[in-house]
Amino acid sequence: MLEVTPVMTIDGPSGAGKGTVSRIVAKRLGWHYLDSGALYRAVGVAASWANLDISDPAALVRCTFDTAVSFVENPSGARRVLVNGADTPTELRLETTGAVASAIAAFPEVRSALKERQRAFRQPPGLVADGRDMGTVIFTDAAYKVFLTASAEERAERRYNQLKDKGVSVTLDGLLREILARDARDAQRTVAPLRPAEDAVLIDTTGQNIEQVVERVLALVHP
Ligand code: C5P
Repeated sequence: MLEVTPVMTIDGPSGAGKGTVSRIVAKRLGWHYLDSGALYRAVGVAASWANLDISDPAALVRCTFDTAVSFVENPSGARRVLVNGADTPTELRLETTGAVASAIAAFPEVRSALKERQRAFRQPPGLVADGRDMGTVIFTDAAYKVFLTASAEERAERRYNQLKDKGVSVTLDGLLREILARDARDAQRTVAPLRPAEDAVLIDTTGQNIEQVVERVLALVHP
C-alpha cells in the first residue's frame, strides 16, 4: 500500500499561538514545519523592496515566482527566514509587513502561485503546517486539523511581547486595532477566507500556556 505522509494543519487568526505551538509540535514529532504566513510575508517584503504596486496582481504573481524564500535553523534552534538570500530578522515580523501580506494574500492569483510551493513541504516522516487555509485548501486530506483561537486582547498582548523582545516599539492599543483589521480582511476575503475546516478540532488558547496547548495538540496524534 502507498504510504501517505501525514500532515497536521494548524490554522487560526494572528497571535493565536500557531507559530510557537506548531514549531514545538513539529520538533516533538520529528516532523517538518511549514510557516505559510512567512511565504506571504516574504512576497510582501520582496514586493516593497522592488517598489511594486501591491494592487497589481500580475506584478505580484511575477514577484511570487521570482522570490526565493529559505528557512534556516541555527544550531541554537533559532529560525531565520531568508528572502532572496537576505536575512530579515525584524522586517518580516512587523505588523506593517503582516498587513501587506494580508493585502496581497487576498488575490487568488497570488494564492495559486504559492500553492505548489506549500505542498512541496510535505515530506516524510510528516509535516506540521500553520496558516489560515492549511486545513481548508492546501492540505484538505490532512490527518489532523486544528484551529487555534484566543481573545483579540490576549493575541494583541502576545504580539506586543514578541515585538518588544525584538526591540520594536509599538503600542498595545495600536496593535489591537491592526490585528482586528487584519482578522477582518482575512476572514472576509472571497478566496480561502480564514475559517476552521469542518473536521478541525477547535482549541481556545485564552488563558492557557504554550505547554498546555502543545499537550492538547500532541494528544490528537498520540491519544
Ligand atoms: O501568519 P502570519 O501572521 O505570518 O500571516 C500573515 C498574513 O498572510 C495573514 O494575515 C494572511 O493574510 C496571510 N496568510 C494567508 N494564508 C496563509 C498564511 C498567511 O492568507 N496560509
